Amino acid sequence: MKKFILKFFNSMNTENSIVEFTGLHNMDLTDWWTSTFTDQERSIIYQKFYPNFCDMLGNRNRSIFTENNFAIEDEAIIPFMENLSTYMRNHDDIASKIFLKFLDISKNDPICDSELLSTSKDYKNWFILRQLILYNIKNFNQLGVKRVSFSDGNYENAIDECKGLSGKQFGLGESIIVEHWKKYKPTCRCVLLPEIEEGLLVD
Ligand SMILES: [Zn+2]
Repeated sequence: MKKFILKFFNSMNTENSIVEFTGLHNMDLTDWWTSTFTDQERSIIYQKFYPNFCDMLGNRNRSIFTENNFAIEDEAIIPFMENLSTYMRNHDDIASKIFLKFLDISKNDPICDSELLSTSKDYKNWFILRQLILYNIKNFNQLGVKRVSFSDGNYENAIDECKGLSGKQFGLGESIIVEHWKKYKPTCRCVLLPEIEEGLLVD
């Protein structure tokens, strides 16, 4: 009987890990966009947001959103919204509306502490780093990266857990990776570096 119960709980855990939050990367916010801002405001934001015109290599050819369309595709949406509100900081009213939407969208992450997110800069920075890591993991997976290594960024205030992981390699699917960004660690600056296998990116 004990064995059965143990098995039962193990299977429940497995199911939970399947629905684990892996980041928000696609979201159509056009309704919010058009109902929250006037034509003029949308035009200001569109022209002001320089990365709108850049791809990852800095080439000016890609638009994340336009004046009439805010269907975001393949972006780390939570960090993107925070970044956009920072860009608009000289327009208080616009910046705070975007920041409110950032807080609202962040609630999609089950571990999000909304109170801390709106009051603590350290928590906000950590939370955004967490979203970027989840986005990186998705991209590594798409690129066929099989192994990654931790780097604590040589940050001297990093806790022992981070320092201990730094330089160590893991398979991309190993649970230790996502686990590391589940619990708030104020001084965690860890990043994941892809272990590029020979020939992988030569195509
Ligand atoms: Zn860390």
